[in-house]
Parts: sequence; C-alpha cells; structure tokens
Amino acid sequence: MSRYAYVNGQYLPLSVAGVHVEDRGYQFADGIYEVIAVYQGRLADEEAHLARLDRSLKEIGLAWPVTKRALKHIMRRVIAINLLKNGMLYLQVTRGVSRRDHAFPKADVAPALVVTAKTLKPTSPDVLDKGVAVVTMPDLRWKRCDIKSVALLPNILAKQAAKEKGAYEAWLLDDKGFVTEGSSTNAWIVTAKGEIVTRPLGTPILAGVTRRAILALAKDAKLKLVERAFKPAEALKAKEAFLTSTTSWALPITKIDGKPVGDGKPGPVTLRLRQLYAQALEKGL
Ligand code: PMP
Repeated sequence: MSRYAYVNGQYLPLSVAGVHVEDRGYQFADGIYEVIAVYQGRLADEEAHLARLDRSLKEIGLAWPVTKRALKHIMRRVIAINLLKNGMLYLQVTRGVSRRDHAFPKADVAPALVVTAKTLKPTSPDVLDKGVAVVTMPDLRWKRCDIKSVALLPNILAKQAAKEKGAYEAWLLDDKGFVTEGSSTNAWIVTAKGEIVTRPLGTPILAGVTRRAILALAKDAKLKLVERAFKPAEALKAKEAFLTSTTSWALPITKIDGKPVGDGKPGPVTLRLRQLYAQALEKGL
C-alpha cells in the first residue's frame, strides 16, 4: 500500500514528499511534534494532544501553521487517504524555511507543517504476558523536557543503548538519581502499600497524554495516587512498575537493570489500568 503525507499544503505519496534543505527543523531541530494514536479509524484523545501542541508552540514562540479547524481536517484526510485503522499520526511543526541563521527568521516566514501516518500492530500477547525490561542511565537531555521538541538525540541514544542491552526502554535518571521518565514513555510504580506513583509534571518530564488519561482513570476507580519522584532502588522494592505512552498504553515492566520487579510478572494494578484504558479507547477517549 502506498502511503501519503501532508507537507505544507499538499498531500503527496511518501516517496516524493520532502522538505526544503533549509527547513529549520532539518538544520536546527527548531520545531515540535505530536504523536496521536488512531484507534479504529478515530483519533484518540485528540483535544489533549492539540492542547499540548498549542503549549509546545507557545513555549518556543511559534504560531499555529494552520488553524486548529484546518489541522483537524488535515489529520482526518491523512487517515482517510492512508486507509488507516489502527496506528498513529505524526505531526511536526517547524520554524519554516530560511537562510541558516540561529536567530528566528523574519515574521513573514511561515511555519512548516508535516503530517504522516503509520499502521501499528497491537502489542503482542507475549509482551503482555512477560512484561518488558528497562535499564537505567543518566538523563542527558536539556532542562525543558516539558516541550515536545523534535531534538531527540539524547532520547535516541538512550533507546539504542537500552535496545543493545536487550531492554525495551531506558529509564533516565536525574542528578540526584531519581527517575525522570523513559526515553519515549512516562515511568510509574505501584508500591507495597498499593499506591500508584509517578513523577509530578514539571520541566524534567513530558506531560504525557496517556499519563493524564491513566491518572484520571485511576482516580475514577478510587485507586491511591501519589505524584512524586522515585529511584530505581524503590522501584525494585515495589510490587509493580509500568510505563505509559500513546503507542504502548500502559505496559508492565518486569525487569529493571536485569533484576525482577515484584514477583517478576506483570501485576494486577497495571493490567487493570491497561484494561480501563482500552475500554476508554473503545468508548472514544
Ligand atoms: N515522555 C517522552 C520523552 C515521550 O517522548 C513520550 C511520547 N511522546 C512520553 C513521555 C509519553 O507521552 P504520551 O503519553 O503523550 O505519548
């Protein structure tokens, strides 16, 4: 199946779609992005993603490339022309094309918008049965991880290092040894007391849209929630650990740095949250 992308006003086959070599996203990583899940042809948690997009744009002083209404139309068209049922949309907004110079270009340079689509397979039953492994490493990123910047080099290097160690994800540690988040996921534990713990929002982490949805679902289910930072040592003494993201939902972590979490099997709280999330998606999140 050929795939199509939206690039600055045009819908093009992926094989010919491209951006200018002087696009500031290409030259400086001067841009931001969003990943929105498509579930049974529908966008999941669209408003929350657009609110985060709006915030990221404001934080880097960039205008919306098209109106919100137009963007919603573009996203639906990209889903339709790709015959996308289950997968994700990738949206990228950069500070447009201009002669290479660090300072912002003049106001008449339009931001550039790219939207692509990808089909994703559901998480395999084997992964859900066994859970995934994470390895810890220093968080080498900048001090504004709350901005969904396309500058992902430290995240890429961390994910690759995790992969080379046979792990699914890297848990990044701040200067005091606390987990900030994963390279592309938010980090959680469930303590012996049954408290669900995740780091509070702030500049060291991305405000995950799935994190937000899981917190709301856990609250509705009257589960105990605490937003505070934790260290890997505490996670190893916890009953459960898990990660969240748009494409992973809530995924059990059963190994940290080669050592088992709890009894080494996916835990009931994680699996319940995953089920609640799946039900919410089904109903239309
Ligand atoms: N943290 C980082 C660094 C990420 O890249 C992502 C994925 N976008 C997340 C957390 C999870 O965010 P979300 O639930 O919105 O996918």
